[in-house]
Amino acid sequence: MTTKAQSIEAEAKHLANGQVKVNNWSSPGVAAFDFRSDIVTTPTTRMLDAIASTTLLDDVFQEDPTTINLETFIADLTGKEAALLVLSGTMGNQVAIRAHLNAPPHSVVCDYRSHIYCHEAGGVSSLCGAVMRVVRPSNGKYMTLEDVQKETVMSDDVHTCPTKLISLENTLNGIVTPLEECRRISKWAREHNLIMHLDGARLWEAVAAGAGSLKEYSDCFDSMSLCFSKGLGAPIGSIIVGTKAFIQRSRWVRKTIGGGLRQAGVVTAAARVSVEDTFLGGKLAATHERARQIAKLWEGYGGKTANPVETNMVWFDLEAAGVSVEKFIELGEKAGLRLRGGRLVVHYQIGDEAVRRLESVMQAIFKGKQLNGDVVHGAEKLQEMNVVR
Ligand SMILES: *Cc1c(COP(=O)(O)O)cnc(C)c1O
Repeated sequence: MTTKAQSIEAEAKHLANGQVKVNNWSSPGVAAFDFRSDIVTTPTTRMLDAIASTTLLDDVFQEDPTTINLETFIADLTGKEAALLVLSGTMGNQVAIRAHLNAPPHSVVCDYRSHIYCHEAGGVSSLCGAVMRVVRPSNGKYMTLEDVQKETVMSDDVHTCPTKLISLENTLNGIVTPLEECRRISKWAREHNLIMHLDGARLWEAVAAGAGSLKEYSDCFDSMSLCFSKGLGAPIGSIIVGTKAFIQRSRWVRKTIGGGLRQAGVVTAAARVSVEDTFLGGKLAATHERARQIAKLWEGYGGKTANPVETNMVWFDLEAAGVSVEKFIELGEKAGLRLRGGRLVVHYQIGDEAVRRLESVMQAIFKGKQLNGDVVHGAEKLQEMNVVR
């Protein structure tokens, strides 16, 4: 006679086909040498374990406890009524903005460098039929109320396209929009019935830098989107927060673009770990420290930075250093690093060795040091080493 537990175990073994424990989640692997973005973070074994023990009910039917719990947890953290899982930061912004807006004519005001304007395939225009009015911050860092006011259209004139929504982004290029400025913009926006949205893909970074709490920032906005898969390290997922009515409408919009997930617990279990371990676990502040360390090194060799280092990004001015983007990437490859250009993003899996390699790239640029490409573990080799054994 087999017990029930034994038969469950036998069934599990059968389904797993003799599963192997060591896999690409066992170490950061190549992510430890990848400065291209914080999206490259390798999910951790704790995330994998959370996925392995997640609930697997249907989230379109709103029956999955892990997903509902994550939504409640993030709503509480941000002091909003409700939250909704989305698959990416782009989906979060697009669903939120679509849920807020009604019919054209309408316009959205945002920073000229913002993700919704530059990197979301024109979704605000195609999905909402909205005109985007972009602001060039007068201080070169973040939009102020005065900047926003200049681009906002409030008119009954039939020739105009009235502004309905203001979208801020925090952090943007690693730069913090101070809480005080958000409050000023928000107060004015509310007086004029303008909707406030925040692309907070990296709001965690602003909070970790001590700029304000999640709740304080959240108070300034009708909705926010937050990403789990950037610096927090989850494999997939973002979330939007707002009022119950807004989230209800967002659920509808999400469905229309195919974002309704069935067994969403596989996504939300890992996302929860990313918030607890990386954000609440206090791992982000150290990445900011490392970013400052890298900027200091660069400046020590005579390099200039193109943006202030306020969180986890360092912007090397490559032009001023007399090196092309292509050459910089090539030097990185020789040193066993993955680079994309002057923007370096520090995440919690970047360690001392990556910084040492980066310094040898600086020495190549400023001191003519030869890199022979003989890195003991180059980025490519490391990837191979982590293949399931
Ligand atoms: C990464 C990012 C997003 C969303 O990116 P996805 O790749 O769609 O998840 C949105 N806004 C900002 C500011 C981002 O950095």
